[in-house]
Amino acid sequence: MFNKVLIANRGEIALRILRACKELGIATVAVHSTADSEAMHVRLADESVCIGPPPSRDSYLNIHEILAACEITGADAIHPGYGFLSENAKFAEILEAHGITFIGPSAEHIRIMGDKIEAKNTAKRLGIPVVPGSDGAITDDVTAKRVAAEIGYPVLIKAASGGGGRGMKVARDEASISEALSTARSEAGAAFGDDSVYIEKYLTLPRHIEIQVLGDGKGGGVHLGERDCSLQRRHQKVWEEANSPALNAAEREKIGMICANAIAGLGYSGAGTIEFLYENGEFYFIEMNTRLQVEHPVTEMITGIDLVNEQIRVASGAGLSMKQADIAFTGHAIECRINAEHPSTFVPSPGRIAYYHPPGGLGVRVDSGVYQGYSIPPNYDSLIGKLIVHGRSRVECLMRLRRALDEFVVDGIETTLPLFRNLVSNPDIQDGNYNIHWLEHYLANAG
Ligand code: ADP
Repeated sequence: MFNKVLIANRGEIALRILRACKELGIATVAVHSTADSEAMHVRLADESVCIGPPPSRDSYLNIHEILAACEITGADAIHPGYGFLSENAKFAEILEAHGITFIGPSAEHIRIMGDKIEAKNTAKRLGIPVVPGSDGAITDDVTAKRVAAEIGYPVLIKAASGGGGRGMKVARDEASISEALSTARSEAGAAFGDDSVYIEKYLTLPRHIEIQVLGDGKGGGVHLGERDCSLQRRHQKVWEEANSPALNAAEREKIGMICANAIAGLGYSGAGTIEFLYENGEFYFIEMNTRLQVEHPVTEMITGIDLVNEQIRVASGAGLSMKQADIAFTGHAIECRINAEHPSTFVPSPGRIAYYHPPGGLGVRVDSGVYQGYSIPPNYDSLIGKLIVHGRSRVECLMRLRRALDEFVVDGIETTLPLFRNLVSNPDIQDGNYNIHWLEHYLANAG
């Protein structure tokens, strides 16, 4: 096992990783920008190192400074969290060259899954069902029209290096495809420095359902069931739950085992998420994330398995603590992402938290790095915490969530808490009757 882990991240996820390390008896190093010197993860870590000024590229993305912090403190492994350097294959390679363990999969697997075209081809080869579409990058109108005619309109043009829901354009008919192709390519080039795009069938009313997997890196792998992340705004997840209200146990077992066998076949190491769109009873692979996800706690709540602990175990060579037969799904869990944003305009609202009272009680978990008197810096993502609630049934979970949201007080800044108070009482949400467009429609009508 490692002696000391450096956490190359900030906010709630840095604290989440720190907690797992402490429970394993591993010493922790926090790194932080000058904007984060008062952050909770810095206060709670055994050691901390300032790695630069507020802009991420000068601090949390500064590989040179992070390596120096490792050297100064003698950390033997780095956990990258999500975002920042977590899916940077080069970073994983550099660490390896320096004899520091990257807590995550191999650089090769990060690279394959980071290129969505290669990821899709790999998934197909491993027996995972994919969205019908082009086999490779599309550069000209003629090929685009031919592929679109084969799969049928509407089609979606997507960036091969895309992320965060950016660089996607829908073409509803042949007349709009040339423009969609050129806009998607120039947007992808500007956002990701790579203008490769591909085409796939645009599913009109799917759900977003993803499977959590863990690989031991030695040809073994398990699945931990699904998360339904269909409630999205601008392709960003807002509310996640497990199990999905749309799946039964047999469907879960079937898609779960396809994923577990695929990652075993790949020789994958650590935690990963295989994302699908789900429509009319069929699953369609869209991408694989080779890291811990923001919404991982809902899986932890229904399985009782600490995913960060498993990531660390696998990276240290200790293997997974369980087999597929040991994994059982108990009850229901829902996560709400609380952002420092206006609840209807979504304008960021950084600033000082004047009063803070998180909810508690049976089945309630709050993953957050904020506290009363803390000032949220304007430089980063607006996620300030996650409320995760567990109940024996979905109904109990919803009742508990409503109660927990009532208790939650964050004064001094705007947050998205009021949005969740409305959602939890909505009949469609209560019935589990929603798809990836539901929230956008709801917000448009509410506004
Ligand atoms: P990113 O990496 O940018 O998040 P994804 O491929 O994961 O991109 O897609 C993000 C979201 O975009 C999905 O959750 C879904 O809402 C929508 N989406 C992606 N592919 C399709 C598709 N083929 N049809 C309909 N919606 C899609």
